[in-house]
Amino acid sequence: MSKDDINKRIEKQKAKKKANEKKVKFAPAKDVTKKSLKDRIGMVGSFAMAMASRGINNNRIDKKTKQLRVLSCHGKGELPPCEYLRQSKVNPKESFCGGCGCGDRKQTWLVSDGNEYGKLDYPKVSCPLKMPGFTNYEPSSPDEAKSPITRRHYIEQMDMKDVDSVNVTVNGTPLDTNKK
Ligand code: SF4
Repeated sequence: MSKDDINKRIEKQKAKKKANEKKVKFAPAKDVTKKSLKDRIGMVGSFAMAMASRGINNNRIDKKTKQLRVLSCHGKGELPPCEYLRQSKVNPKESFCGGCGCGDRKQTWLVSDGNEYGKLDYPKVSCPLKMPGFTNYEPSSPDEAKSPITRRHYIEQMDMKDVDSVNVTVNGTPLDTNKK
């Protein structure tokens, strides 16, 4: 092996090491599957809130908020999907949230694009992890910025142009914001 080849190999190894060092490490999601009675009562309230926000006109959320919801559930690029994202058994092309307990139904599918009105289109909808874009979103705490970071913190640090590039279809009727 020539000296040039050896140098090339060393440079390659260095570049690989650097790339691995740069890789973001994500913390595991907190366990939201064990539900107390209080949680279950809260779930009923969240469902009622979502249904009321949809109304009889199939009101829908704005595009930017839906893009944040899609990132929260499905991830993008180095941001992995949420640990609670589940593939639908009813329609394998769709997915649903395995953390909120609302089940695998058309109304609960986390549709990012396409013509169906899904859970991510509701003007008001909750996420058990309180992720960006959801009505009960809570900003991350300083602890979440330390490696391994949370997905929530990662999304909060994203460039707006990366959020804008998330592919979504917003289904339903835009909310009339002038209405009191
Ligand atoms: S709604 Fe929240 S917990 Fe459920 S899949 Fe989406 S981000 Fe995860």
